Amino acid sequence: PLTGAEPVEDHQITVCVRKRPLNKKEISKKEVDVISVPTKDQMIVHEPKNKVDLTKYLENQKFRFDYAFDDTCTNEIVYKYTAKPLVQTIFEGGMATCFAYGQTGSGKTHTMGGDFQGKTQDCKKGVYAMAARDVFAYLKSPKYKPLNLIVSASFFEIYSGKVFDLLADKAKLRVLEDGKQQVQIVGLTEKVVDSVDEVLKLIQSGNQARTSGQTSANSNSSRSHAVFQIIVRSPGMHRVHGKFSLIDLAGNERGADTSSANRQTRMEGAEINKSLLALKECIRALGMKGNHLPFRASKLTQVLRDSFIGDKSRTCMIAMISPAMSSCEHSLNTLRYADRVK
Ligand code: ADP
Ligand code: MG
Repeated sequence: PLTGAEPVEDHQITVCVRKRPLNKKEISKKEVDVISVPTKDQMIVHEPKNKVDLTKYLENQKFRFDYAFDDTCTNEIVYKYTAKPLVQTIFEGGMATCFAYGQTGSGKTHTMGGDFQGKTQDCKKGVYAMAARDVFAYLKSPKYKPLNLIVSASFFEIYSGKVFDLLADKAKLRVLEDGKQQVQIVGLTEKVVDSVDEVLKLIQSGNQARTSGQTSANSNSSRSHAVFQIIVRSPGMHRVHGKFSLIDLAGNERGADTSSANRQTRMEGAEINKSLLALKECIRALGMKGNHLPFRASKLTQVLRDSFIGDKSRTCMIAMISPAMSSCEHSLNTLRYADRVK
């Protein structure tokens, strides 16, 4: 549905949804697809048995967003309407953020980090890499070249309220907040990069650090937020000119693990729940004076604080949807959350 339409470039908050195709496993289990994308901005959840009775579900389970991507949309198309319009923001001295939200297995990492070809992830086709590519294009353009901006990148993970450096063997880092509410991750690796290839290498190694030593059945990545940042600094004083944060959020279903028998799982669930709720409030309040906002309610919102305040801040959320009937409840939760962000 999206072919032809040009992205709207001036939204401060953009909220989109993306439906992935049924996968082989779901097809072999004879799962039914319960998600429709009838227009370029609508998504509908319908129970198969109600399929004939359109009026019933149209009233109850119909959601409207800035854009809705169906299962034929590629990462390139999703990128064009979501993160791409935000690249300009950081060159104009603003902060940009792009979030991938959704249940585990809905396509967050596929979208942000790139598709898996067997065991290796092809990061070139992910939103991280496409954003990096466009940052270098802007850097070399006649308009911004004279600014002599310096580009650098960092990549970290927030797991159970703790920060780990994905570019430094997952070193555990401390977060400090000074009297002026400036937040700093102490010792976070920030590598200066001169080319797209250099960024790709960083993304690749960060992606690997993220998934290494994990089996899919017991994956920490579904319980952690991954934050990839592209920072542009002015020459000389190295003051931050603009920053683009691209975030692969923890699986939202993990936030419901608060009644698990396992204490660790319960604590992680509570932390995820807290961070996703605080995130919603912080996005809704984007651009407002920040003191009364729940930044401190979670590490995620605390470290992203400077990206939510200031008139030039812009953000985009991509809510990912698994199409199968068995994911229906989670899909509805995701759609309701995305619906309330704006
Ligand atoms: P998440 O990070 O949300 O847990 P993943 O990105 O790992 O989910 O996706 C789960 C699986 O589905 C992966 O094998 C991925 O390659 C596949 N997948 C996700 N989105 C798509 C898509 N749009 N098209 C094809 N395959 C997809
Ligand atoms: Mg993932």
